[in-house]
Amino acid sequence: MTTSSADAGSGRSLLPVAEARAAILDQLQPIAGWERVAVRGALGRVLAEDIIAPYNVPAHDNSAMDGYAVRAQDLGANGETALGVVGTAFAGRPFSGIVGPGQAVRIMTGASIPQGADTIVVQEIARREHDRVFIPAGQKKGQNLRHAGEDLAEGGVALAAGCRCGPAELGLIASLGIAEVAVRRRLRVAILSTGDEIASIGRPLGPGEVYDSNRYTLFGALSRLGCELVDMGVIPDRPEALEAAFRDAAQAADVIITSGGVSVGEADFIREMMNRMGEVAFWKLAIKPGRPMAFGRIGDAVLFGLPGNPVAVMVTFYQFVQDALLQLMGVTPLPPAERFPVRAGFALRKQPGRVEYLRGRLQRGADGLSVTLAGAQGSGVLRSMSEADCFVVLPEDCTAVQPGDTVCVQPFHGLV
Ligand code: AMP
Ligand code: MG
Repeated sequence: MTTSSADAGSGRSLLPVAEARAAILDQLQPIAGWERVAVRGALGRVLAEDIIAPYNVPAHDNSAMDGYAVRAQDLGANGETALGVVGTAFAGRPFSGIVGPGQAVRIMTGASIPQGADTIVVQEIARREHDRVFIPAGQKKGQNLRHAGEDLAEGGVALAAGCRCGPAELGLIASLGIAEVAVRRRLRVAILSTGDEIASIGRPLGPGEVYDSNRYTLFGALSRLGCELVDMGVIPDRPEALEAAFRDAAQAADVIITSGGVSVGEADFIREMMNRMGEVAFWKLAIKPGRPMAFGRIGDAVLFGLPGNPVAVMVTFYQFVQDALLQLMGVTPLPPAERFPVRAGFALRKQPGRVEYLRGRLQRGADGLSVTLAGAQGSGVLRSMSEADCFVVLPEDCTAVQPGDTVCVQPFHGLV
C-alpha cells in the first residue's frame, strides 16, 4: 500500500479530494466470502453471483387488459365487426379451446392468450350483446399483449453479481421462482472514538468533556450500508490503550474507522504507533471541514482515521469512506453521486485552496431551485447536518459567493 502523498508536516501542498478518493479506491479489493440467504434476507445485500432467469417472465403470452381476445384478420377495415363469444379466459384459468374465424374469447388481465387469437380489444370499446361482441374498426394486430419473456428472457442474466438488492430486486428474484440467493458476507467494520475529553452517553459530563456523537453517526451510516459493526467504544489518548484497541479491532474487522486524534499536534504518537502496527498515511486534504485524515492498513484491516469534529466526520465519511466500503462489499461501481448547479441564496467569503462542503437546504421558488445555508457552519455544529438536505460544494479556487451566483450542490437523498 502506498502511503506517501501529502503527509502531514511534509511541507507539501494539500492533497486534492479527487486524488485522495482515487488513491483509496485504487487499493481496495472486494472481500472474499459469501453465504446463501432466503430472498427477504437479501435486502441490502450484494449478490455474489449472477442470477440467471430459469424461465421466461412472463412465462406465457398474456393479456395486458380486460377485454376480448380476437383474430386481427377477422376485423373489418370500416364499421363494426360482430364476433361470437365462445368462452372466457381468466388469469390462472386459461380458455382451453381454439379461437376460430368469426370468434372471440372474453379475457381478463394476465390471462394466457387463447390459441388462435392474436389481438386484445379492451372491453371499454367493445359492445356486448348476449353471446356476440361488436368490435369497432381501427384495431392493431398484436395490441394489448404482453409477450412471454418480455420482462426477462429464459437463460438471460436477470441480475448481475455486484448488484445491491433493494425492493425491486427482491421482487424480481421472487418473480423467477428463486427462493435463495448467494450474497457476499457482510463487511465487518470496527468503530472507535479517541480523546481524553470524550465521554460515553449514559453518565454525567465531567469538566471539559464532550459526549461522543461520532460513534452514533457512524453507527447510522454503517448500519444503512448493511455492515456488521464492532463497537470498540471510546479510547483515551494513551498509547497502550490505543494500541490494544487497534490490535483487537484489526483482528475482529475488515475495516477500522476511528475519529479524532489525527490532527496536527495529536497525530504524532498515533502516527508512530500506527506505523509500528501497519502502514498508514496521514494526509492533509484540500477539504473543509476535514483537513486531516489517515488511511492505510493495520494488520489485515483497512484503516480510515477520520478527524474528530462531528461534521468533519460526516463529510469525510460520505466523500471518501462510503464508496470505499461499497467497493470492499463488492458492489459494482455506481455512477458518481449526483451533483447539479443551483442559485445561491446566501453570501459567503472563502479562503482559496480547499474544497468546502457547506450544509445547505434546497428551496423551490418561482424561478427554480436555490440553496440557503443550514445554520451555523462550524465543523462541530452537527445541527447543520441534521437541518440540511444537501452539501453545497465550493471548489478550491472559489473565494466568495454572492446571492444569485451559481453553486454546485450534492443532495443528501441517496448519499446520506
Ligand atoms: P481531534 O481531531 O481529536 O483534535 O478532535 C477535534 C474536535 O472534535 C475536538 O473538539 C473534539 O473534542 C471533537 N471530537 C473528537 N471526537 C469526538 C466525538 N467522538 N464526538 C464528539 N466530538 C468529538
Ligand atoms: Mg482528540
